[in-house]
Amino acid sequence: MLKKLKDIVRKSSIHVCIVNCGGCNGCDVELVALLSPRYDLEQYGIYVHNNPREADVLLVTGAVTEQWRDNLRRIYAKAPEPKIVVAVGNCPQSGDVFAQEGGRVLAPVSDFIPVDAAIPGCPPRPSEILEAVLTVAPGAIAAKGRAQDARKD
Ligand code: SF4
Repeated sequence: MLKKLKDIVRKSSIHVCIVNCGGCNGCDVELVALLSPRYDLEQYGIYVHNNPREADVLLVTGAVTEQWRDNLRRIYAKAPEPKIVVAVGNCPQSGDVFAQEGGRVLAPVSDFIPVDAAIPGCPPRPSEILEAVLTVAPGAIAAKGRAQDARKD
């Protein structure tokens, strides 16, 4: 019964989990701004929480430190299918400032988990993050759901 309810809710909303795998928190501040009345993320049916087991979308920030590599894989594995990953900011793509001058980071994040969309910027604006989630998430989740259903048949 609960599982059925969860499936119904997931069809009409997008649940997002923020995963900071080693950045300066600049991108996270922009993500948190999305919760403010100015952007009012929930008006789009997007809900942020910190439980990957409930997440449709993992918003990954940061340059992937050694300590975060395995955590990142674990968190990805915990998120139920269909799920998508959006890399937020330059760090998950290139390591940005943390990759310079012999910095020990392991970006890109796509070396460790599949990435469906990447938003460049240091940091990207909240509106750019919102646009990426709204553009990519519903289609990608639906497509992955269809692929899953086809595998079951
Ligand atoms: S992309 Fe820029 S703002 Fe975002 S975590 Fe990296 S250094 Fe910070």
